[in-house]
Amino acid sequence: MAFELPKLPYAYDALEPHIDARTMEIHYTKHHQGYTTNLNNAVKGTDLEGKSIEDILTNLDMDNKAVRNNGGGYYNHNLFWEVMSPDGGGKPTGALAEAIDKKFGSFEKFKDEFSTAAKTQFGSGWAWLSVKKGGEVHVCATANQDNPLMPGIGCCDNVTPILGLDVWEHAYYLNYQNKRPDYVEAFFNVINWDEVSKRYEANK
Ligand code: MN
Repeated sequence: MAFELPKLPYAYDALEPHIDARTMEIHYTKHHQGYTTNLNNAVKGTDLEGKSIEDILTNLDMDNKAVRNNGGGYYNHNLFWEVMSPDGGGKPTGALAEAIDKKFGSFEKFKDEFSTAAKTQFGSGWAWLSVKKGGEVHVCATANQDNPLMPGIGCCDNVTPILGLDVWEHAYYLNYQNKRPDYVEAFFNVINWDEVSKRYEANK
């Protein structure tokens, strides 16, 4: 079965003023749709056809640029929409909050590290919070549409991303122009920590 563009879990304008409706609409209907279509074309008729996106990315041949770019783009945006909410913001609670405190010292220190990763990623890419089996959390950034599932990517090995922030200019330029740090700060107002916690529990 072909990969499908998942339904956006809120309206295009739901995350305003932090993410504007026009950016959201273009990002979802053009960029994410494009990765989805191109991924389907790239796996069609190969032995990757019919496999889950997680299976494909975890065992990826990194020289397969079409699957690396479009499979990454498909997976990353699936996650990105789900970890934001119009009711988001605040801080995590429970086991995820404890894991963040244990690793970084405090939520504020985690926020600093994640924000720095997002702001200093040169060019296009993503910032990530991931979890390793055993419950330890990690922050890293990757270029283009790479992500921590991919082999040898330079994030901790054997981790599952539970929070991702798209820092491609297409994600913020209409509203923020060159001010990526303002976009990164605004993202913290829409993070759906309930969803991130669910993913932490499922993958720890
Ligand atoms: Mn994007």
